[in-house]
Amino acid sequence: MTDLPTGPRPEDHTVPAEADWDRAPSLVDGANTLELGAADCDLRYWLRAVPQGTLRGKVLGHDEHVTPHEVTRRPGPLNDALTQELAFRSIAEDKATRALGYMVALAPDTATMEFYTTQLMDEARHAMVFRSHLLSLGVAERDLFATVERLAAADRDAVLVPLENLGLEVLRDQQDFIGGVVVLTILVEGVLAPAAQLSELKWRVFDPAAADVERGAGIDEIRHLTVGSSVAREHLLAHPEDKERILELITRGRKLWDDLPATEMTLRRETLFQQGLDEHRDLVGDHEIWPGRRLVDTSVEERVGTAQEWAESMQRKRLAYMGLEEAI
Ligand code: FE
Ligand code: FE
Repeated sequence: MTDLPTGPRPEDHTVPAEADWDRAPSLVDGANTLELGAADCDLRYWLRAVPQGTLRGKVLGHDEHVTPHEVTRRPGPLNDALTQELAFRSIAEDKATRALGYMVALAPDTATMEFYTTQLMDEARHAMVFRSHLLSLGVAERDLFATVERLAAADRDAVLVPLENLGLEVLRDQQDFIGGVVVLTILVEGVLAPAAQLSELKWRVFDPAAADVERGAGIDEIRHLTVGSSVAREHLLAHPEDKERILELITRGRKLWDDLPATEMTLRRETLFQQGLDEHRDLVGDHEIWPGRRLVDTSVEERVGTAQEWAESMQRKRLAYMGLEEAI
C-alpha cells in the first residue's frame, strides 16, 4: 500500500457564515452571540472571509448597480444628514487605522499581530468607502478632502480628538497593548457600533448603496468586537493583577464620554434625517426599519434611543464575558 502524497492541505474556499454577505447576522446580534478569538481570525481566515468573501465584487462596499436614490443625491436635508455622517465616520475610521498601527507594533504574539493587521486594513477600508461614497452624493472628486473637512472638522475636534488622545496616551505613551484593546473595544467601537447598525437600517430606502457600505462595515465590526473582547478576556484570566488598572481606564473613558457633545451631534443629524423623512413619506411607504415598525412612524428620539439601548445591552454582555462585571 502506497502512502498518499503529503503536502499542504487543500485550501478551504468556503466563506464562514459570519462573514458571508447574505448569511451574516446583524452587527448587534453577531456581537451579542458569537465567540471568536484572535487565533480563529488570523490572516488566513481574513483572506478567505473578507477579500474573497464579504467584499467579493464590492470594492467600494456595494455592487456597482446599487446607487443612492435621487432624493438623497440632490441638495436637501437627506443629503446634508448623510454627507455629514459619512464625512465624520471617514475621519473616525482614519484615526482608528492610525491608532491600530500601535496595536500591531505592541501585539504580544503572532495571533494578535495578524488579527490587528487585518483590523487595520478593515478600518482603512471603512475610511475609504465612507469617503468615496460622498462622490455618489454630488461631491466633486477635487473637492473631496476639503468637503470632508468642511462637513466634519468641528465634530472631529469636539468628539474624535479627545478620544484619540486617550488612545494615544495608552498606546503610544504607555505602550499598553491591553489598555489599547479595552479603549478600542469598550470605549470606542462598543459605543459607536450600534449607531452604525441604525444607519444601515434607516438609509436602506433613501440610499441602498450607503446601507450596503454600512452592512459590510458592520460584518467587519462583529469580528472586531468579538475578537477584541476575547483578547481582553484571555489577558485578564492570565493577568488578574491588571484588572484594577483596566477598570480605572474604563471609568476614565466613560467620564470623558460624558463630557463629549456626541449626543448633540447625533441629534442634529437625526433631525435632518427626520426632515427628509417627513418630506418623502410616500417614497418610504410601509418599509419597516425593524420588524413590526414602519420607518415613517419612528421619531428622532425613538431611533436614537433604540441605538442607545442596543449599545448598553451589548456593552453589559461583553463586559461580563471579559470578567469586568464591576464596570457594568
Ligand atoms: Fe470601522
Ligand atoms: Fe472596527
